[in-house]
Amino acid sequence: MRVLVTGGAGYVGSVSVEALVAAGHDVLVLDDLSRGHRDALPGGVRLVEGSYGDPAIVGQLLANTPVDAVLHCAARSLVGESVSDPALYYRENVAGGVAFLEVLREAGVRRLVFSSTAAVYGTPASVPIREDAVLAPINPYGETKRTFEGALRWYAAAYGLRSVSLRYFNVAGASGRNGEVHAPETHLIPNVLAAAEGRAALTVFGIDYPTPDGTCIRDYLHVEDLARAHLLALEATSPGDRVGVGAGALAINLGNGGGFSVREVLAAAETVVGRPIPHAFGERRAGDPPVLVADAGRAGEILGWRAQHRDIVEIVASAWAWRQAHPDGYRA
Ligand code: UDP
Repeated sequence: MRVLVTGGAGYVGSVSVEALVAAGHDVLVLDDLSRGHRDALPGGVRLVEGSYGDPAIVGQLLANTPVDAVLHCAARSLVGESVSDPALYYRENVAGGVAFLEVLREAGVRRLVFSSTAAVYGTPASVPIREDAVLAPINPYGETKRTFEGALRWYAAAYGLRSVSLRYFNVAGASGRNGEVHAPETHLIPNVLAAAEGRAALTVFGIDYPTPDGTCIRDYLHVEDLARAHLLALEATSPGDRVGVGAGALAINLGNGGGFSVREVLAAAETVVGRPIPHAFGERRAGDPPVLVADAGRAGEILGWRAQHRDIVEIVASAWAWRQAHPDGYRA
């Protein structure tokens, strides 16, 4: 199938593009390169530079190159930024997202996979989190993702848009070609590895949580497992698919099957780099729930998906290998 990938030059998008190409699909990328990297795209993948929220660009693109399905990865995705500038998140993730859906509707595109987030759940009442848990986002990022998921539900009922929204927590690791480069970087694993390289100081945020070792537990998902889930979800939106999603909008959690504490991630990284990593212990970071772990059972039942890279040492090792091979990140 021919797939349009928005945000295909970003971290999650680019590894998903790799998976789609490897599976023999024809891939077209739409990315404004505001945070993506041209170099992240494999050779032969066409890039249209622009925003998914620009109806003229998307309309022209689809008129020139009709597509069978869309993988929508592009979005603003920083929690802190969403709190300080919610207008940006509503403008891009919601208004831009709905403008995009409108052009897809006009062009007759009826299959979409949405790269959503477990931030739609907010602070869960219980873990592991199932898809039928209450959606109560605690920041504009999660709220705007939930709002877009809501649009997908109503578009399914009224216009027959078949969609899958994938909800996941902490994406980590790298493929051989692509890895994580964010500026500023807030995520644990890149911060730990930057400390190992002597590039930045590492603070562990809070050691008094109600967890076995006092630090927060998170569900770290290897980016290649996520990419494979995107591929399987796209295939499941086919009207002829064995399980299919009918004319509906499905939400599916993704996760590693368990969680790892901050101390466990740090220990894994010390194993990978082969030396102690300097760190300090600091205050809790605002808004961090003690434990976030997904119940990924539905992904197994419907997509036949299960995380393959479940070992935290392996996940961190892939991130480290990529950093060693790309000490300056993406140059372009
Ligand atoms: N964390 C930390 N130091 C850092 C970055 C993160 O202790 O420099 C902790 C953070 O408080 C959370 C966990 O690591 O408990 C994962 O944070 P991250 O920002 O990677 O992902 P989040 O869970 O916020 O999506």
